[in-house]
Amino acid sequence: MTCREFIDFISEYLNGSLSPSQNDSFTQHMEKCTDCVEYLKSFNKAIELGKMTANDDEVPSDVPLDLLDAILQSRKPSDQE
Ligand SMILES: [Zn+2]
Repeated sequence: MTCREFIDFISEYLNGSLSPSQNDSFTQHMEKCTDCVEYLKSFNKAIELGKMTANDDEVPSDVPLDLLDAILQSRKPSDQE
């Protein structure tokens, strides 16, 4: 799984709609890629903020993509530190 695929799968992962094999690839990527772990943390934070704003217990289906894109740009995974 690439970082791009990881990011694409985050919503499905949080919704529990990944297949078992996709879920395995997803968690394996987390073990070797700290960039994506940080990204997932930021994603969860954004969702928490969305929950507080919406006062809703469900994961919002309309993830704040603008915010996520901004996070992604600032944390763009790369081979270099
Ligand atoms: Zn990654």
